[in-house]
This record gives sequence, structure tokens and C-alpha cells, in this order.
Amino acid sequence: MNKTLEKDKNQIADLLKNVTEQALNFVENIDSRFTTSAQTTQKEIQSLADKGIGAQQSLQQFVQKYDDILVASTGPRYWGFVTGGATPAALVGDWLASVYDQNTQAIKGDGDISAQIEFETIAMLLDLFDLPKDFLGGFVTGATLSNFTCLAVARQWLGKQKGFDIAKEGMRTDLNFLSATPHSSAIKSLSMLGVGSNNLTLVNTLNGNREAIDMDNLETQIQMIDTQEFILISSAGTVNTVDFDDFKAIAKLREKYNFWWHIDAAFGGFAACSPKFKSLLEGWHDADSITIDCHKWLNVPYESAVYFIKEKHKLLQVATFQNSNAPYLGDPLESFNYLNFLPENSRRLRALPAWFTLKAYGKEGYQEIVERNVELTNNFAGLINDHQAFKVLAPIHLNTVCFTLSDESKDSGEFLSRLNKTGVVFMSPTVFAGKKAIRAALVNWRTTQKDIELAFAAMLKSL
Ligand SMILES: *Cc1c(COP(=O)(O)O)cnc(C)c1O
Repeated sequence: MNKTLEKDKNQIADLLKNVTEQALNFVENIDSRFTTSAQTTQKEIQSLADKGIGAQQSLQQFVQKYDDILVASTGPRYWGFVTGGATPAALVGDWLASVYDQNTQAIKGDGDISAQIEFETIAMLLDLFDLPKDFLGGFVTGATLSNFTCLAVARQWLGKQKGFDIAKEGMRTDLNFLSATPHSSAIKSLSMLGVGSNNLTLVNTLNGNREAIDMDNLETQIQMIDTQEFILISSAGTVNTVDFDDFKAIAKLREKYNFWWHIDAAFGGFAACSPKFKSLLEGWHDADSITIDCHKWLNVPYESAVYFIKEKHKLLQVATFQNSNAPYLGDPLESFNYLNFLPENSRRLRALPAWFTLKAYGKEGYQEIVERNVELTNNFAGLINDHQAFKVLAPIHLNTVCFTLSDESKDSGEFLSRLNKTGVVFMSPTVFAGKKAIRAALVNWRTTQKDIELAFAAMLKSL
């Protein structure tokens, strides 16, 4: 064995203690850490040395070079994009996923049982969202990959309606996709799936600054499709205004038309955690597939998301993802293996952080996080509304504030750039109803009223 490697092996206890100390330093000071690294200069990119320096010195060098410029994206005032943090229990699960270093594939056979942990986590998530158990689920790296996975099975379904096995034969026919306000990652998925993002037909949204589907227009668009079979990409939480499509109405539409119903509920699905907001999702259990991001409102570290696909579609799912050229024999759930159900083959024990945080905080824990984030969002919107310099652009549906400067001669992009450079808070630019705007999305478990006040004070200073 290489001498340095052997030395590290013998010093693993000290090494892990030092890492813990370093981690504590980061976690315990997250409140005061900058939310931007815009002020720092680029670091020199070094080449690989012949002789290694060992883990201990690598840690020291890493901390010296990078630690103070890593941003507090996991902290309480990182409101750009939709950025979750990591609960203490999730962090424990994430560390252990590396320690155990399983390759999570099969349930039975000669393999390990880590897929069983994933099954249990999926069952707990279905409980959290109050969804029925006739969904099969699995972990992928993010909502983009979840949308991809769901839409890949949808593509296979639509091919089958037209007499084609697209997984085997490739695209032989045009497919119709309809959506009102799809997330960019759904469009990206259509590109990756080879169905062509131009084949997405945009349906009108409801009047009055809404981003939800206009159901009348949807029906008009459906009637223009030759065969009338199609895939509907609906939204539980659009990124600008967290708008929800009318799932009860969509469920009713299935009595008349033959379509695959997908819901992108990346973060909006967490409305199910609170009796106050649950009605936004009424009817969603009828969908064929649902995307949920875990590295957003579940507050587990990146890279974590799940897909839920109705079990009745399991043969289509396996036809899409099976890792062998032989036709799948028998019931794929009998000798279950994740590599026949999703894009990746080898996978880490990605469910473990979610398993820990769900065990640790339960339904009540998530209800509290969701309700607190929404309450703080409303408080923040209140401060903005009450000040003459700003105006809120869209109604607050849940956990996002979309606002801009009242004085339209001023550039909100320049203001945002000044604000983000303070390092106190981080928000994203967006465009809403044709106007340049700013968006703050609150999904972090650490955020409190004090953070709302700190952020607003930074906004006033940046005017
Ligand atoms: C964040 C988000 C995605 C993409 O998620 P990633 O985790 O970045 O892949 C997709 N859809 C919606 C609605 C989102 O909010």
C-alpha cells in the first residue's frame, strides 16, 4: 500500500475528528457567513502533484484556499432560486450514506438491502404528502431528472397508444405535449428525450396575473390534436408565483380524454404538509406521475429528488429503463432492481438523508417548517408593500415574493446586484408579466423573523 494512504488508514479517527471540527465551524457560524462570493478573486487552478500530501494536509489546504469563500447557501437568508438547507438529521444521514457507501440497486438476491431503506423512505414520503400507496417511487439527483424520468415513461405510454415501442424503435411519430407554465427543466427533459421541445404546445394561463392553466383553453387545444392522445405537464407551484393548476378539474377531464398526467410539484407538493394549504393539491393523487424535490423544502443536502409513478405503469417504466437487451421476464417487482426503473445504474444510498430527517421530525416537524416559511414570506411581502420604494408584483400563494422597484425609471437588476453583493441575503432576478423583477423563495428550516428584518434592512441600504 502507498505509504501516505496507509498512514491515513491508521489515522482515520483523528481525521474524522478534524473534519467534524471543521464542519462544526461552518454549521455553527452559518448565520453570519456571506451569501455571495462576488467580492473574492478567482483562485489559481493547480495541477496534480506526483506525490500526495495526505488527507490531513489536504484538509488544511482546502480550508485555507476555499472555506471562507464558500457561500451560505444552506443558511437562513439564501432566497435565490428555491434553495433548501440541510436539517441536522439530514446531515447525519448524508454523512452516513458516504460511510456505508452502498450501491443501491436490488431488493433481493445476492445484493445488499439498501434498496429496502429506499422503499421505506418512499413509503414515509407518500405518508408525508398524503398520497396513496399505488405509486412506485425512487430517488434521482434532482427535480430535473425526476421530470425526465416521469416524462420518459409518459413517452413510452404515448408511443404504446399509437402502436410503437419507442424505447426499442426510437421516435416513429410526433407526440403532443401540453402545458401552461412548464418549468425550464421540463422543456430540457423534452429535448433530452428526443421528442423535441418545439412539440410542446403552450396553453393559456388564467386571467389576472395567474400562471395556472386556463381549463377552457386546454380543452380547445386538446380538440385540435388529431388522435387526441397527449401528455399534460401540470404545475404544483410555478417558480414566479407558486401558482397551482386546478387538479380536480384536470382529474375530471380524464373522463373525456386519454392522456398521461404529470405534475411537477418540485416544491409546491409540500403544501400537503399543512392543513392550511393542502387544498391547493386536491385531486393530485389521480396523476400518473409526480416530481418532488427533496433538496428544496425537505431540507436534505443536494442531490436529492424523487419521482412517483403509478404502479400500474410498471411495465412501461421497465420497458423504458431496463438495463438489458433481453425482454423483461415476469413481474419486475418480483426481483426488483432500481436499475431497471430509472436512469442511473450504480447509485449511492441517496434515500438516507431523507430517511433520517423524516424519522427525526415527522409530519409535525414538516408542518411547522412549511407554515413558518409561508408566514415569514407574508411578513416579508408586508414590509415590501408598506414601503414606497418597492411593490409586490404577484399575489402571495405560498412561499415566494415576486417584487420590483416602484420607480420604473430605476433598474431593478442593478438594485439586485447591489443587494446580493452585501452578502446578507441572496435573491434571484426574474421576469414577471413582461417586467424585470426580483424573486425571493423561502424554504430553509433555519429562517426566522430576525432574518426577514436583516434582509429588509439590507434592501433599504441598497436602494
Ligand atoms: C427546482 C425546480 C425544478 C428543477 O429542480 P433541480 O433540482 O434543480 O433539478 C423543476 N421544477 C420545479 C417546479 C422546480 O422548482
